[in-house]
Amino acid sequence: MTARVLVVDDVFANIRLLEARLSAEYFTVVSAMSGPQALEICERGECDIVLLDVMMPGMDGYEVCRRLKSAPTTAHLPVVMVTALDSPSDRLQGLQAGADDFLTKPINEIALLTRVRSLVRLKHLTDELRSRSAGTNGLGLPDALVSAAAEDGHNGRVLLIEDRPNAVERIVSALAQHHVTEVEASAENVVSRLNETGFDVVVFSMAIQGADPLRLISQIRSRDRFRNLPILVIVDAVDDPRLSRALDMGVNDYLVRPVDRNELIARATTQIRKKRYQDRLRENLQASMELAIIDPLTRLHNRRYLQTQLSSLFNDEQVRGVAISLLMVDIDHFKSINDQHGHDAGDDVLRECAERFRGLVRSIDIVARFGGEEFVIVLPDTDTYAAERIAERVRSAIDMRPFSVSSGTKTIHVTASIGVATRSGSGVSGDALFKLADTALYEAKRNGRNCVRQAA
Ligand code: GH3
Ligand code: MG
Ligand code: MG
Repeated sequence: MTARVLVVDDVFANIRLLEARLSAEYFTVVSAMSGPQALEICERGECDIVLLDVMMPGMDGYEVCRRLKSAPTTAHLPVVMVTALDSPSDRLQGLQAGADDFLTKPINEIALLTRVRSLVRLKHLTDELRSRSAGTNGLGLPDALVSAAAEDGHNGRVLLIEDRPNAVERIVSALAQHHVTEVEASAENVVSRLNETGFDVVVFSMAIQGADPLRLISQIRSRDRFRNLPILVIVDAVDDPRLSRALDMGVNDYLVRPVDRNELIARATTQIRKKRYQDRLRENLQASMELAIIDPLTRLHNRRYLQTQLSSLFNDEQVRGVAISLLMVDIDHFKSINDQHGHDAGDDVLRECAERFRGLVRSIDIVARFGGEEFVIVLPDTDTYAAERIAERVRSAIDMRPFSVSSGTKTIHVTASIGVATRSGSGVSGDALFKLADTALYEAKRNGRNCVRQAA
């Protein structure tokens, strides 16, 4: 992972120090020696994360942070306050200014890299969400993405794994400001507990008795279901050798005892935000994949899906030389249904048709909405006689029972005309079969509608 890190400090030696450590890990380092200079660099979009010294002459770090977080162009940039002061009130002030994290001088190497990596990952996710929500405009998706990008990470469900009552009490009460915490005191129960419900983050005490915490972490990480579940460990000291093992295993972040309330809240909240972004991106991907093949009104397959399936089906069937039939179904006088009862009633009819078709076909058949009020049903391994019988069943499924529209306030009688074409053996292409069914449909319409016609 690489990223552009902006280091802001009024002391050149401090910049050099951070620059050396970060560039050894292949980060690109940009530097600024004053608040205003830092703001300019951020506004120009020349960095992905900001490490910000608190005490600077003129504009201090808190003020720089406040300005970054209140401007729409820079609000999404993660900011880490770097402070020589380590009192809880300084941290609180940083949080109130909107900082995402803290580092205390002298800066610990593990702390620096863990925090920078974690926030850079979060930034990459946010950037992806922002660009996707711009790209999906008009597809009916942007709302979900816009709200994800505004996600504050609050109201999370936290699972705390800790067996010491005092520690439990302190952590639960701190998190209560923004989250709901459930506690698991027994190491043995952790995995089954996680299976229960959707937790947003696990806070894991490495001091827990009765199990090897590293083994437990590897168990959690190795399960597909929990792969994206953030884990925040609590250690007694940053030089605990188990910490770097845990980080290698995919633990997302850590806290050192005594746990600072604000730090705990900030860390847990960052992890929750990150998880929610990831979940949203995944859902969004699924939704856009679905959009490509599903008709949103009827939930039937769309024309594009039909065409790709049909061509692969034809290539297969050609080899086997098995019969395949295609029904083209068109609702009669649909325009006048719209005209008389309104467009919404027309939509109700389309949905109900789809429902009735679904109930008539086998799982290997394909039912698709081909266009407006036109549907196609593909019946593999079905000869002329069988196809005619099925077509008649489809026709009567529409004709037989009136349609309830306008939230059940009206019922209307609907009919459909159907053209049937069959390729028995081989030689006819998918396109040719379509044309034959279409011609037969035209015949059915000409013949007075509400009937089935076979292609010659
Ligand atoms: P015919 O019996 O010859 O098939 O006549 P028809 O009125 O069914 O056919 P026509 O092609 O003249 O009209 C189809 C109408 O379907 C026109 C169009 O406005 C309407 N339509 C297309 N898509 C939708 C839709 O998604 N919802 C609704 N409510 N109407 C639609
Ligand atoms: Mg929220
Ligand atoms: Mg029609």
